Amino acid sequence: MAEDLTDFIRQRIRSDLADGLDGVVTRFPPEPNGYLHIGHAKSICLNFGVAEEFGGKTYLRFDDTNPLKESDEFVDAIVRDVEWLGFRWEGPTFASDYFDELYRFAEQLIERDKAYVCDLSAERIRATRGTLTEPGTESPWRGRSAAENLHLFRRMKAGEFADGACVLRAKIDMASPNLNMRDPVLYRIRHATHHRTGDAWCIYPMYDFTHCICDALEGISHSLCTLEFEDHRPLYDWVLDNIAVNYHPPQIEFSRLGLEYTVMSKRLFATLVDGGHVGGWDDPRMSTLAGLRRRGVRPAAVREFCRRIGVTKSENRVELEMLDFCLRKDLQTAPRAMAVLDPLRVVLVNYEGGGEVLAAPWHPQHLERGGRELTFSSTLYIEREDFKETPPRKYRRLTPNGMVRLRYGYIIVCEEVVKNANGDIEELRCRYVPESKSGSDSSNLKPKGVIHWVDAATAVAAEVRLLERLFDSANPTPATFRSALNTNSLRTVQAQVEPAAVASAEPHFQFERTGYFVKDERDHSAAQPVFNRTVSLRDSYNPKAGP
Ligand code: ATP
Ligand code: MG
Repeated sequence: MAEDLTDFIRQRIRSDLADGLDGVVTRFPPEPNGYLHIGHAKSICLNFGVAEEFGGKTYLRFDDTNPLKESDEFVDAIVRDVEWLGFRWEGPTFASDYFDELYRFAEQLIERDKAYVCDLSAERIRATRGTLTEPGTESPWRGRSAAENLHLFRRMKAGEFADGACVLRAKIDMASPNLNMRDPVLYRIRHATHHRTGDAWCIYPMYDFTHCICDALEGISHSLCTLEFEDHRPLYDWVLDNIAVNYHPPQIEFSRLGLEYTVMSKRLFATLVDGGHVGGWDDPRMSTLAGLRRRGVRPAAVREFCRRIGVTKSENRVELEMLDFCLRKDLQTAPRAMAVLDPLRVVLVNYEGGGEVLAAPWHPQHLERGGRELTFSSTLYIEREDFKETPPRKYRRLTPNGMVRLRYGYIIVCEEVVKNANGDIEELRCRYVPESKSGSDSSNLKPKGVIHWVDAATAVAAEVRLLERLFDSANPTPATFRSALNTNSLRTVQAQVEPAAVASAEPHFQFERTGYFVKDERDHSAAQPVFNRTVSLRDSYNPKAGP
């Protein structure tokens, strides 16, 4: 079912289809130089989304033109992430699949006197490029004949020159107001082993030359890219106008996703990984898709997030609350369980039962999900913060001589606070009210609060990772991001978890009152459980618009 999205790109596609366009073909073209992040998800949801809505198709195309930075590891990770998001692609294809064609088109430009071999160093090329207010200077090699250029370009390809000795440049206009049009480099020499073509090539095409040609060869109907490529569009068009291709896709730009409290660049994430600031590309604090997945984010939440942020041309940083809102919404139906993150022992002085079992549903609003059994005994754990000796006003939990209800269990009354020599509370001695059992309560007591608990006899000790934002600053930049790192972004606690949650095959849980958690996909085992907090329960955020 076509969703009723009305952003400017979908409007454009509808109008192209009305004008006779015979099918929508898009592509998602990542460079395999790192793992995908949530910014890429915006582009993925857009490209795959429009193709799905309009009955078209999407290529997953790897833009692998820089052998120094790219690897199969990154290709595999990207494939996994796009698949995880729930999309199916044509291909995958690789820019390197087209190296022969690209080379032939480069020779064509040379033959048409539209490209030349330039012996200036990269530094000289930069220095002679001019500025926004000053035209550039023409290269002394600009006047070489087509025959000489062809000869030199073939020698470049044959490996006769060292890296940097010369480049192939487009012959456009050194006085163009658009700096990208001042004889941009099309090919450079790189004696490096490519992850797919090995040592077959020692010259590699530049992005601006490669991308438009791949788009044309794949018959891309709408080449959707981010706004920083707007100034490259004239070059995209120039290349296709000056070679013999019979199809010329339109490039359409939209704004990049920025998110508060994170950076959004493979390069910067690589710095964090390589510098040991995080545990890897899938560190659950990272806004890589692999990191989000490990944190317990599900694909539906990412897609919902992308739907809500929409597609426009205005640059902004989305609030983190928007993402959290989508995570909570998606996890609302996750089974519920009880876990005590900071355990305080409670001994029920009058409890003499043994082997008592209480029934509890997996989800109070979804009884069809079935339930689990909670054991009950004379020694329990409650959350340390659910008891206060001198309670603040309106405190609804346990206090000396106060009472509270244990979720799905009994009402307890605190009779004695046992402290150690330092004055720290070691244990509470409480009385339980036998006739107050949940579901058959005849006690007529009305405790103000209900707290979660676990039975010390059966609870499973688990490592719980409480994850905070990776950055202290809402707007970390490439220049500041290192000093903006939040040094308290990972706090690990030893929790006590009800055994049914550990035994269940389900990875996602709401632990009552403490948040949504997931079993860590790397480190969790039934013998040594490890849970990550996906998101807390607190939700003061109310999105202004949208369904
Ligand atoms: P990075 O700096 O993270 O490497 P990139 O733009 O160089 O980003 P590519 O691998 O070239 O990454 O990106 C593939 C596609 O994803 C491109 O079409 C790019 O425009 C898009 N993309 C990347 N980052 C974002 C973002 N933050 N928001 C929207 N689209 C993005
Ligand atoms: Mg890039």
